[in-house]
Amino acid sequence: MSASSTKYIFVTGGVTSSLGKGIISASLAKLLQARGFKVTIQKLDPYINIDPGTLNPYEHGECYVTDDGAETDLDLGHYERFLNVPTSQANNITTGRIYQSVISKERKGVYLGKTVQVVPHITDEIKDSIFRLGKDGNYDFVITEIGGTVGDIESLPYIESIRQLRWELGNNCLCIHLTLVPYLAAAGELKTKPTQHSVKMLLEYGVQPDILVCRTEKYLPKELRRKIAQFCNVSPDAVIESMDASTIYDVPMLMLEEGLDKVVLSKLNMPSRQELDMTAWKQFLHNHKNPNNVVKIGLVGKYVELKDAYKSIAEAFIHAGAANHCQVDLQWIHSEALTDATITNKTLQGLHGILVAPGFGDRGIEGKINAVQYARENNIPFFGICLGMQCAVIEYARNVLGLHDAHSSEMNKNTQHPVIDMMEEQKKITNKGGTMRLGSYECTITPNTNAHTAYNTTNITERHRHRYEFNDAYRTQYQQAGMLCTGVNPTNNLVEIVEIPTHKWFVGVQYHPEYKSTVEQPHPLFSSFIKASMSK
Ligand code: GLN
Repeated sequence: MSASSTKYIFVTGGVTSSLGKGIISASLAKLLQARGFKVTIQKLDPYINIDPGTLNPYEHGECYVTDDGAETDLDLGHYERFLNVPTSQANNITTGRIYQSVISKERKGVYLGKTVQVVPHITDEIKDSIFRLGKDGNYDFVITEIGGTVGDIESLPYIESIRQLRWELGNNCLCIHLTLVPYLAAAGELKTKPTQHSVKMLLEYGVQPDILVCRTEKYLPKELRRKIAQFCNVSPDAVIESMDASTIYDVPMLMLEEGLDKVVLSKLNMPSRQELDMTAWKQFLHNHKNPNNVVKIGLVGKYVELKDAYKSIAEAFIHAGAANHCQVDLQWIHSEALTDATITNKTLQGLHGILVAPGFGDRGIEGKINAVQYARENNIPFFGICLGMQCAVIEYARNVLGLHDAHSSEMNKNTQHPVIDMMEEQKKITNKGGTMRLGSYECTITPNTNAHTAYNTTNITERHRHRYEFNDAYRTQYQQAGMLCTGVNPTNNLVEIVEIPTHKWFVGVQYHPEYKSTVEQPHPLFSSFIKASMSK
């Protein structure tokens, strides 16, 4: 495979946002991968933030973290979950990052006295970011998803870059445009006009799409496809229907039925490398859709109004559920509502397992601590992730060790017992963006613990995103009172996992296991947690 043989696929969106470009990109990538190709997917986000790390989850949903510590768009989570291949910083570029790089080059004099402009300097930078993934010849296909909707002011430089690349790459690239074909109930008709207008707008910018993927809630008849093809200058077989699906994991199979992968390969002149193999995927879908059991899991968090804020956790439960032939009925519980023991008991009663979610700041923190106490005292399987683990440590200090004002110094700077405290290396840092403990770190697990049983190994790596940690000054006190540190970082001895061995299943992890759960490799801790909850 040489760099020049890499094919580039651009995915744009029209008519409205939220049509699911990420899922369509990931589904196409999955089909190409199942035909023996090496594929990666990249997201270009038109906003000016350097990365979504500083964004409130209400603004942008979850911030997904890669092995190399990039704080990225949640679509990268879909890419990894579908492809089972890790992504990196190079897979998510924002306008902020593009401008930051151009401005820093300008300061260094790289542009040799030239006026620095959107075309060609910003567009060159965008094109470089696209080529960076393809340049070592590691991939047969680089799929680049352009965030936003065609016509947005912010995405113009990206569309212009695609226009240029179509000239430069010729037959080695193609453009897929995702649009909406709405159904007007009053007229009883599907309408193609928004799609026609959206393609016209792309044409104004000089980009002729090769394939149209049409989101629709009703079946697209042949004549309608022909009409869209004719108005939009694409071949009729390149008008692909994307029907609303009951699960995102159906979309690759729907795209297969529609022949999206075949049209792509034929337009790019690439013969399939092997007979399509979707065996593992189909097995997962079968298990997911035919569960033998149901477990009710409470997800306690403060952003529960926006489910995207906990995207990877929710998806990890789907993978773990399928692995256990079990449907996970997720109950979204607002931590702010759990104001005292009575309300907490009433709200959480009947759950088979409780997960306390990651988070920042003190809103809803006491509710999370109440939820831990309920799970611990009632022997209900408990899984704490990042802040959730920290809450478990605080709860144990307050109610078992008798350290009544114990807290995290994130929430209470003056606590007498900062059982969760800021990491030394964090104390000097003032910038907010990209300065947490981020990305993959090793962890050594104590044998014969729940974590060890789950992972079936004592050496793991997991991804992090936090500033605070278990305060080592209290470790012995905890160990003596029955909360054990069962996973530590082998280089700096930071506590990564805590467990209560006398409890049915009580595991808190300082890292984020949810980022590494995929369809083909459900995360072992999520699977074990579900298994324990099933026997509750
Ligand atoms: N706010 C906590 C910290 O920074 C936990 C972060 C998280 O849950 N991701 O340590």
